[in-house]
Amino acid sequence: MRKYVIMGVQGSGKGTHSQLLARDLDLVHISVGDIFRWNVQRHTKLGALVRRIMASGELVGDDLVESVVGDRLAQHDWNYGFIIDGFPRTVRQAEFFLESYDIDGVIHLHLPDSEVRRRVLARRLCAGCGMDYNLIDNTPTVEGRCDVCGGELIRREDDTPHALEVRLREYHEKTNPVLDIFRRKEYVITVDTRPDKEQVQQAIRDKLGISSTGLKTTKSQDETR
Ligand code: AMP
Repeated sequence: MRKYVIMGVQGSGKGTHSQLLARDLDLVHISVGDIFRWNVQRHTKLGALVRRIMASGELVGDDLVESVVGDRLAQHDWNYGFIIDGFPRTVRQAEFFLESYDIDGVIHLHLPDSEVRRRVLARRLCAGCGMDYNLIDNTPTVEGRCDVCGGELIRREDDTPHALEVRLREYHEKTNPVLDIFRRKEYVITVDTRPDKEQVQQAIRDKLGISSTGLKTTKSQDETR
């Protein structure tokens, strides 16, 4: 059973790298942002509560986030463990999480703000199946159309320059202190996400001590400190 947290500013590749780890280690990938987006798209009560906050780039309130994460983890469908993406993002969320769960490692994806701006503003999402694209290095075959389902490629509602600045500010103010808490517990490995996807994924596995034959170690120290 492995329990990982993946953290990083928007556009750092949390979704991509979580999915690769989840696939190979049989982990359940839990993305709080995806849960919210699913609810917004289906016009649920929860979707109505979070839509405007998300579009502005601000963080959803801790009470609501904790109840969503608590309910999701209580489903206990994660027999081999989970990788949680986009949570915790505030000190309160981190304390709530650490009260109930032991974690094996925190993967911190580091990307400078200038590169975040370049990547996030080029990001597109299929309105049909949700597939991610990036107009820098992951372009669709037909412009504006999804390769998988032919759906229209759109910008996420919160991928505007203004919302991005708010999200960067929120990240530095509220999420950096969470990393400090985890660093004190020696859970954190930091990986620079500027190289290509394969190199970054390999660096994550090396630092976590994951070999092709399985996991060798569980906790690693942040080697960048
Ligand atoms: P993400 O896809 O992780 O970038 O999340 C998209 C948006 O969902 C964020 O900008 C927040 O508005 C909201 N959100 C996701 N996770 C959290 C969280 N742990 N705490 C507060 N808000 C969150």
